[in-house]
Amino acid sequence: MKGALVNAAGGIVARSEVPTPSGEGVDAVIETVIRTVSDLIARGQNEGLDIPAAGVVVPGIVDDANGIAVFSANLGWRNLPLRTLLQSRLGVPVAFGHDVRTGGLAEARFGAARGVRDAVFLPIGTGIAAATLVGGDVVTGDGYAGELGHVVVEPDGDPCRCGGRGCLESVASARAIVRRYSERTGHHLVDAAQVAQRVVDGDPDARDVWDDAIHALADVLAPCVALLAPEIVVIGGGLGASGEVLLGALRHAIEARLPCQRRPRLVQAQLGIWAGCVGAAILGWETHTGTATARGGHVR
Ligand SMILES: [Zn+2]
Repeated sequence: MKGALVNAAGGIVARSEVPTPSGEGVDAVIETVIRTVSDLIARGQNEGLDIPAAGVVVPGIVDDANGIAVFSANLGWRNLPLRTLLQSRLGVPVAFGHDVRTGGLAEARFGAARGVRDAVFLPIGTGIAAATLVGGDVVTGDGYAGELGHVVVEPDGDPCRCGGRGCLESVASARAIVRRYSERTGHHLVDAAQVAQRVVDGDPDARDVWDDAIHALADVLAPCVALLAPEIVVIGGGLGASGEVLLGALRHAIEARLPCQRRPRLVQAQLGIWAGCVGAAILGWETHTGTATARGGHVR
């Protein structure tokens, strides 16, 4: 998990990264969140900073308005009243939200989608989810919006963490790309950037795995683009940092599926893997200044 002290201009002044003890149960995860945030607050206060609020964002299904972590396959919780719980322990007002939706909010406020009113933010890392900005608002769908990673792209494909098979995430996440390349070749790579490098170097196995991921992403993104006509699609997460080997191929694949619709600009995220932290801070800041909305992500 990542934590940061963020100033009102969206600048990160201190960072913290600790492993998530996801195998040790829900209580261990919560205690690690509390320790991480408390340490950051103490670091800021030691430097004379005023820390008026905190923002905590988590993956999975999140009820932003009520502060409930509804479900996370990775972290193992169901219907956990996390905002109330954290607020009782941290001693500052706590804002609470969804990691990807707030990451999209941060890119819209301070990053690649600044000044844009209609945008799709798609971080591709261990998992895949999306945030959608329509008319300047982040769409929440009662906490269910954005689960593109679990759209089935290969019926009867590989098993997915969600219980389904052949989800986009099981073909095109950074983790899936590494796994599929390793299964195919017997070469065990550490991260998807190595597969991307092999694509550039002309490795045909890497190219096949990469193309499968690109086509799956395009199959899922193209209908979103046709429906929402975003001005921009921002690709983030670890894989987003691959640059044109990803973006160029994905742009081509999406455009091949959109003969007459508005074609969005397809760009790399600017806040990278820290977008969620900056977004969490925006929620915290809005809680402090009283500008938060029930939708959790107003950017106008
Ligand atoms: Zn799935």
